[in-house]
Amino acid sequence: MLTPVWEVEPGTEKPLVVHVNATATGGGVSELLRGLVRHQHAGWAVIAGTADFYVMTKYLHHLLHGNADPGRLDDPALMRTYRATLAPQGEWFAQRVTRGDVVVLHDPQTLGLAPAIEAAGARVVWHCHIGADIAPERGPGAVWRALDDELAAVDAVVTTLPEFAPPNVRELFLVPPAIDPAAPKNRELTQDEVAVVLAEIGLTTGRVSPGVTVIQEKPLPYNARVVLQVSRWDRLKDMPGVVRCVVGLPQDAHIVLAGTEPTEIPDDLEGLAVLAEVRDVLTGLSEADRARVHLVNISLKQPEHNARVVNALQRRADVVLQKSLQEGFGLTVTEAMVKGRAVVASEVGGLRQQITDGYNGLLVDPADLDGVRAALVRLLADPALRREFGERARAGVLERYTMRRLVEDYLKVIAGVR
Ligand code: UDP
Repeated sequence: MLTPVWEVEPGTEKPLVVHVNATATGGGVSELLRGLVRHQHAGWAVIAGTADFYVMTKYLHHLLHGNADPGRLDDPALMRTYRATLAPQGEWFAQRVTRGDVVVLHDPQTLGLAPAIEAAGARVVWHCHIGADIAPERGPGAVWRALDDELAAVDAVVTTLPEFAPPNVRELFLVPPAIDPAAPKNRELTQDEVAVVLAEIGLTTGRVSPGVTVIQEKPLPYNARVVLQVSRWDRLKDMPGVVRCVVGLPQDAHIVLAGTEPTEIPDDLEGLAVLAEVRDVLTGLSEADRARVHLVNISLKQPEHNARVVNALQRRADVVLQKSLQEGFGLTVTEAMVKGRAVVASEVGGLRQQITDGYNGLLVDPADLDGVRAALVRLLADPALRREFGERARAGVLERYTMRRLVEDYLKVIAGVR
């Protein structure tokens, strides 16, 4: 059943909105909501589901990125699982909302709550954070057809880019995500603080630490240059491809690949398989190259510790890479940019929106491994260019991607549906 993550204090005025998503920790949406509820008078609840339900919603996720067979959605059992999981949670909600309340459902996992909430008289916003610039027949079209009843109950849709939206929505708002520069994930850390965190987790010392598992042949040398990618262990992030980039990088350049502990994320069952693929790629590398790759698995059981570790890793990086095959937005890049890091990112989805090639970072074709390596080598060799990109990156994020802007955008959405 729905679990409240963030409740509005009893006795204060009604929340402006209630957000509902699939997980309290792990991934961009929970990161976004964590920041947003600190700035917005809102509630936040998380749905519950079975393994079958999450397999189904992961399939929807892949369809929206054009990475699954749309024909499988003809199997009525899939939509039955989806609806049966959400129906009792929709009823739970319907008993608690009143006419005029606004409920924001995030991503396909929660969209199935829309009919029950609408029937109870509340306004329903669907905020879809994912998508790809692909023809509908490659996957999204099948999702829109299967979820037609749910979409009909939605008053407004919010997406990052127009091409992520279903057709014929009543109202569409384009709202990019945002970060909180003062949050533990992003607040300033001194070089000493960064060094302490990286020593504590064992990356630079080989020490064993609670909450973080580092897989490496040898500790990261203090004077190594670091290329970092932070991601969930998701196929679309191409973590195996990141490891392959080490071949041919200068000898003092190391790759740090950090991800959420894959056993902990209930709505993402592929993490362990992706991590195993990464380890296979590592096995195939020469000993010298293997010693220059460091895997960091961070537990989300203590979100503040996770945030501090990600913050320290991003500040330690010389270049931050995001080699995603598809990306709705890519908060990891926003977080790196607000820290003044130079980024190399795939020319896809929301990464294209954040980075102007040659101005505040470099855009690459993720399928072109040589091209990705060349971009990394170019930035590693040019500290002045890294600084220049980093300064522009930080200024751009502070102008366009802060929580203050997101809160204002949401006020427009709420006014629109009321
Ligand atoms: N993240 C984290 N710890 C990790 C890996 C990722 O806190 O070990 C966070 C990361 O800092 C970012 C979010 O998860 O805030 C990922 O968001 P993004 O939009 O990049 O991708 P998504 O996971 O939503 O596809």
